[in-house]
Amino acid sequence: MIPYGKQEITEADIAAVERVLRSPMLTQGPCVPHFEEKLANIVSAKYAVAVNSATSALHIACLALGLKPGGLVWTSSISFVASANCALYCGAEVDFVDINPDTFNMCIQSLEEKLHIANKQGCLPDIVIPVHMCGQSCDMQAIGKLSKKYGFRIIEDASHAIGASFINQPVGNCRYSDIAVFSFHPVKIITTGEGGAAVTNSASLKKKMDLLRSHGVTRSPNDLLKNDGEWYYEQQELGFNYRMTDIAAALGISQFDRLQNIIERRNQLAKFYNENLASLPLKLPSIIESARSSFHLYVIRLATRELINRKSEIFSEMRAKGIGVNLHYIPIYRHPYYEARTTSYKSLPGAEAYYESAISIPIFPNMTDDNQNFVIRVIEGLVI
Ligand SMILES: *Cc1c(COP(=O)(O)O)cnc(C)c1O
Repeated sequence: MIPYGKQEITEADIAAVERVLRSPMLTQGPCVPHFEEKLANIVSAKYAVAVNSATSALHIACLALGLKPGGLVWTSSISFVASANCALYCGAEVDFVDINPDTFNMCIQSLEEKLHIANKQGCLPDIVIPVHMCGQSCDMQAIGKLSKKYGFRIIEDASHAIGASFINQPVGNCRYSDIAVFSFHPVKIITTGEGGAAVTNSASLKKKMDLLRSHGVTRSPNDLLKNDGEWYYEQQELGFNYRMTDIAAALGISQFDRLQNIIERRNQLAKFYNENLASLPLKLPSIIESARSSFHLYVIRLATRELINRKSEIFSEMRAKGIGVNLHYIPIYRHPYYEARTTSYKSLPGAEAYYESAISIPIFPNMTDDNQNFVIRVIEGLVI
């Protein structure tokens, strides 16, 4: 099976992990701070907090921004469920914004209209979580402008988008947001096994997230509220164990060294698909000129009603031929858990049109040209 995505592990990665395994510290050693420093540098943010998943990062990001029961988060209707679940972890509510059919990102116009209505009804969101779908950045400047007008905070779910940029600025620099979150799950751009991180330019948000990552416990003498002696540490908040291990961080540091090569290869593969699928009745990912996508995913959309009606069959045929197609994502409000929570989620036209026509086809750095030509031939055979 040619999977839709896959990690690339080199001998250098293995050696880096082995060094940690032979060292005294498997966790909370020197690698995590080094990983954080590298990440902050790569994305041009001041601070990074490494954790054990992007899901954990989203959770502590929401808490650090003060999300509480009674609060409200909006996110993109087409995303992984973690983008919405983080709100519920905090006892807050979540609602969904429709997507732009061309970029699959949160639609700025829909967001603006929804904010306008919410403002009149007195139910504005506390936090908006845009998702950089497939690795192409949302228009953060536009969302940043709306946040000033309506007073919400912004967490970028950049799980797909490490190494991407928008108008020559790296995704994650938080110029228009409070916090950006990355995932280092093996299917993402680079991996730490399981892993994630939150980045920010705010020293106070960094400090809050550091505390929440590790039980809400601090040992730094300057931060202690009391001090009973040298043994003393104290819990100041209800935190979690969301720490990244040094084993994971060492893998990530080693992978960072290849980040630009990986993005380059993913862009090459995307370009080849764009060129070779262009004459088929498909809608291909639209590439915004000012954006450089990291191409975590390559999503094709069936462009005729006839093909959409045959989507199940096309999907199964591709899998039967050894192509690990997938669907990213089911509109979050369609999951049974979300349907059961409330009947107030509206079916969104952009998300529905996407869901009925989208298929993720394989893209990963060590995909061979032969693999890719095979995928193209199979698609041709099914849609012509
Ligand atoms: C993968 C992903 C997550 C969750 O990442 P984990 O590291 O697996 O917790 C969150 N949001 C989006 C958009 C993702 O693709």
